[in-house]
Amino acid sequence: MAEKKTNVLIVGAGKGGAALIDLLHKSPNMHVVGIVDIDSDAPGIKLAQYLCIPTGADYKEFFKEKDLDEIINVTGSEKIHRQILQEKPDNVELIGGHSAKLMWGLVEEQKKAKEDLKEFEDNYRTIFNSATDAIFIQDVATGRIVDVNNKACELLGYSEDEIKQIDIGTISLNEPPYSQQDAMNWMQKTISEGAQIFEWRAKRKDGSLFWAEVNLKNITVAGEDRIISVFRDIDKRKESEENLRNAKEYAELIFKVTPSAIFTVDIDRVVTSWNKKAEDITGYSAEEMVGRKCDIFANEPCNEKCGLYADDVQKPISGKECTIIKKDGTKLFISKNVDLLRDEQGNVIGGIESFVDITVQKRSQDMMRSAYTELDQIFQSAGDGMLVFDKELRIVRANKTLLELVGKTRRELVAEYCGKVFDDFISGVIKDSMERIIDGADHVNSDVTITGVGGVTIPCILTVTSFRNRDGDLVGGIGSFRDITERKSAEKALLDNIRLKSNFTSMVSHELRTPLTAIKEGIGIVLDGSAGDINEEQEDFLATAKRNVDRLGRLINDVLDFTKLQSGKMAMKVSENDITAVIEDIAKIQKPVAEEKGLFMKTEIVPGIPNAQFDQDRVTQVIMNLVNNALKFTEEGGVTISAYPKGQEICVSVDDTGPGIKDSDLPKVFQEFRQIEDAKTRKAGGTGLGLAISREIIQRHGGRIWVESVHGKGSQFKFTLPVVRKYKILVVDDEEVFVNFCTNVLKGEEYEVISAGMGMDGVNIVREERPDLIIMDMVLPDINGYEVIGRLRSEKELAAIPVLAVSGHAEKLKELDKMEVPAESSAMPRLTKPIDPTLFTNTVKELLALSE
Ligand code: ADP
Repeated sequence: MAEKKTNVLIVGAGKGGAALIDLLHKSPNMHVVGIVDIDSDAPGIKLAQYLCIPTGADYKEFFKEKDLDEIINVTGSEKIHRQILQEKPDNVELIGGHSAKLMWGLVEEQKKAKEDLKEFEDNYRTIFNSATDAIFIQDVATGRIVDVNNKACELLGYSEDEIKQIDIGTISLNEPPYSQQDAMNWMQKTISEGAQIFEWRAKRKDGSLFWAEVNLKNITVAGEDRIISVFRDIDKRKESEENLRNAKEYAELIFKVTPSAIFTVDIDRVVTSWNKKAEDITGYSAEEMVGRKCDIFANEPCNEKCGLYADDVQKPISGKECTIIKKDGTKLFISKNVDLLRDEQGNVIGGIESFVDITVQKRSQDMMRSAYTELDQIFQSAGDGMLVFDKELRIVRANKTLLELVGKTRRELVAEYCGKVFDDFISGVIKDSMERIIDGADHVNSDVTITGVGGVTIPCILTVTSFRNRDGDLVGGIGSFRDITERKSAEKALLDNIRLKSNFTSMVSHELRTPLTAIKEGIGIVLDGSAGDINEEQEDFLATAKRNVDRLGRLINDVLDFTKLQSGKMAMKVSENDITAVIEDIAKIQKPVAEEKGLFMKTEIVPGIPNAQFDQDRVTQVIMNLVNNALKFTEEGGVTISAYPKGQEICVSVDDTGPGIKDSDLPKVFQEFRQIEDAKTRKAGGTGLGLAISREIIQRHGGRIWVESVHGKGSQFKFTLPVVRKYKILVVDDEEVFVNFCTNVLKGEEYEVISAGMGMDGVNIVREERPDLIIMDMVLPDINGYEVIGRLRSEKELAAIPVLAVSGHAEKLKELDKMEVPAESSAMPRLTKPIDPTLFTNTVKELLALSE
């Protein structure tokens, strides 16, 4: 049943009356029967008329209204209030006066509250939309989104209306633990347990995912239970968290793997971290060190003077060297970097130090230093004058000997250019040598003459070598001057001596031969009885005298032959000859001698053995000598002379069944005046020159001679002769083009061309190969042509080999010629490159013919 409405009459149609009509008119429990006011234009009258509520000027008109329950006086006048009180029917209640005023106040307040609410709502919207986080309001019951702010739309890429149509699953990864169901669970949890914060994998409209931090809270809005969720995009934070984590991991990794020892200390120098390398270097483990003061391993000057907390020491400290004591007590040299550690506010909270062990480095530095001192001492005390110069030929160092040699002080030399200190020739040689070294030569030797104190000329060999740094880069050169004054005079004396000896020997031999012939003839005449009868005893004496005179004659002949051979004065008349005939003749002559001694004498000659190029007389002399020796030393058996072809040579062998030669004596037998020291040899009475002469003769033919022997069983003396005489020609030149030129021009059966690129190689090849002719470039990378010739001339066996000098550097050759050159060398035939091939072959032929 509907409740009865209270019928109300309002007295007073001012603002209050109007407001009351507005209020009561809507009320379901009240019915305004009318409103009265003496002012018919009062707002309440106007409103009432508009609302079809009866109006009037006198309240009594409405008393007849049967159901009037209440009169509300809003005039605010006490007088009217008392008047109504007297006149109103009893059953009608009068409200007003104070209470009406109160009512009016309430109405006003309500209105204000409404306005405030509106303002609040407006403000709330503004705040809601300007929030930097996305905000969703969800209905607890359904989970539906009922409101969102602009940020949420912007973050997710949906419009407000779109969001209100979708569920949380759509704006999530929508896979556990970020599914619609998980979202509902979080809501439930919020309802039951209160606010929740968690991370959520959210999804934008474009499908891209991002991390959100979600803040769920339970609220009641207008009596409805709601969940407010605040979404914050934390991708950036996650990223920086990740970066931070990575940076931390990196730092830890660096700490672990760095080849330097690293440790940190706090403000009291207590170690807070200690890496693996620090453990390795010091022998202290991290366990032992962390928590202890770092001065446990400190040594001077590390301890107090570390400088970490010293204000006057600039940080970071880098590359500071000091020493520490290892756990085992040994001292280490370290190089360290130190810096302060600060917190976010910049306060010093400790220090960090990294260090490396430089002990080995230090020791090697010390060793280097002492090695350097030693080297410097050697440099200073060297017997040769030495100087070090840079690439610009400026003198960097000079030793005492050099200062003495040039008669200058160190100050006068050091930092000066070579050109200022030495004459043009020497500085030219130094410059030239450096150029050759840059081109690849190892060192360059040159003959120079220094003008010393008082104008004394000092012949020197100047050797220039490169001076390189550790990487092998050329930084300059080293020049050493060897004073060869003594050697020069000794060489001269030796040469004079040899010449004198040779002249003397040949003179004496000649002088002896003449009277000896007379004695020999005289003895012969007496012996054969032409000068009258002699008795047996006289005959014996004379026979002994004849044997000795013969022996003396042989000795003189041998000595003469040998001197001739050595001085190159014995000419070889080489022509094509038949060795078979030579051997057979000798065997025929020697057969009776052998048989007289009870020995056999036979020949074994391979049939058809080719003719060879040799001087018949000289080769006969060699074979005779070998056969004589064989017969001389053999007591049983006999002698066999054999011959057979061997490649481009023929080989002759004289074999006996005699005592043989001990291995240790084999190398001696071909040396001049050498006899094997035993009674038999002495008894045999030779000169000790026979084999030396034989060797010379065979070598002059381009052959070889040697002996094979089994001690106690016999000896085999063998030699070879070239079938066709091939001249061995050595070309000493570093220019390959010229070597090729010689090979091409001298090709054919007659010549064999061998070559050497350096002067010293040339000398060695001459020693081994005994060429018939040397063609030599006078300007060579190492020692120059004159020096090569000088060395060859000083060796007897090599002195006679002819040399043809060639040069492509006319200028350099002139410079070389200015030097003191051996007399033989200046007379040497020479050709200047490029050489005409015909002129070249003719010169070669002439020289070879002359030497023979
Ligand atoms: P000699 O005039 O002394 O024989 P050689 O130069 O001919 O001088 O020989 C040198 C030395 O070599 C001899 O003294 C001898 O000791 C040794 N010799 C030479 N030929 C023979 C040989 N057929 N058997 C053993 N020894 C030999």
